[in-house]
Amino acid sequence: MKPYIPVTADFRLSRVCDTVTIYLENKHVRMKKIKMQMRNIKITAIPEGVILILVLLLTACNTGVEHSKDGGKTRVLATTGMIADLLNQIGGDSITVEVLMGPGVDPHLYKASEGDVSRLGEADLVFYHGLHLEGKLDHIFEKIQKSGRKVFAVTDTIAPERLIASGEFAGNYDPHLWFDLDLWADIARYVSGILSRHEPENKDYYRENLQRYLQVLDTADKAIRAMIEAVPPEKRVLITAHDAFHYFGRKYGFEVVGLQGISTMAEAGVRDVQRLSNFIIERKIPAIFVESSVSSRNIEALIASVNSRGGHVSLGGSLYSDALGNPGTPQENLSGMITYNVETITRALK
Ligand SMILES: [Zn+2]
Repeated sequence: MKPYIPVTADFRLSRVCDTVTIYLENKHVRMKKIKMQMRNIKITAIPEGVILILVLLLTACNTGVEHSKDGGKTRVLATTGMIADLLNQIGGDSITVEVLMGPGVDPHLYKASEGDVSRLGEADLVFYHGLHLEGKLDHIFEKIQKSGRKVFAVTDTIAPERLIASGEFAGNYDPHLWFDLDLWADIARYVSGILSRHEPENKDYYRENLQRYLQVLDTADKAIRAMIEAVPPEKRVLITAHDAFHYFGRKYGFEVVGLQGISTMAEAGVRDVQRLSNFIIERKIPAIFVESSVSSRNIEALIASVNSRGGHVSLGGSLYSDALGNPGTPQENLSGMITYNVETITRALK
């Protein structure tokens, strides 16, 4: 057996190539061609006497997909943190994900700046939520779509009968469906399919990431159910700043009431506050919740109203409804955000 010389050559490719060709040359073998189909190529030893000429045929990676920039990676733009999280989970290091709306930003009220419009125009793929969640951006998506860019509403894949109809706007649906992890899993499958069609050479990688992400969602769902078990069914009443939790309520058996409707565009009136005060007093609701992306003013007014009428309700905490938490916190991704919400809700209501 020939002795081997240790060589540390570690090639991490940003994309999966169909083939990467490595040429080995020595006095016995003029040129030996090795074809590999791997994401990571690690060479730790080569036969003695072999002069290693590595020619990574990067042209083999050229699949005809045009990339705007960022080292050849597909540049993807997501409107919300929830969609960006999903794209990062599935796209991994083969795409670059940018997000328009960061922590604490209300998508119902978000208006695009000039800079946003150019970012939307420059991205290879644009993913938005749809169902009028980004109500003030709808016309921009239409325009971009007409210009031939690839723009996808992630909720397009969900059949209307699985959606919750809006009580306020006839023919419209409640957009807050990330709180139903079964629906979100279907959106993950849909997005994975789009990425795979855009970059067929990466489809195995996306499929693996999808399977891992579905597992994450399933684990979160089981943890949520276990926590909710601690809250007696008659105490499962969730009152929040706006109607973002109906999918959550449907899935986990909560009665849900928002002070504002399914969009934060319509302000809560005095009558809404009075109606909800009576409800809280009659039902002896111990706690209600503010939301990280909605002003706490209305919920504070509601607490004051209940307490001035001889009832008692406290602030149960702040929930993440329409935006993720800050980077570096457990709420920076969807499963962490929902788990945090359920911890907060169950602590205040049980
Ligand atoms: Zn909302």
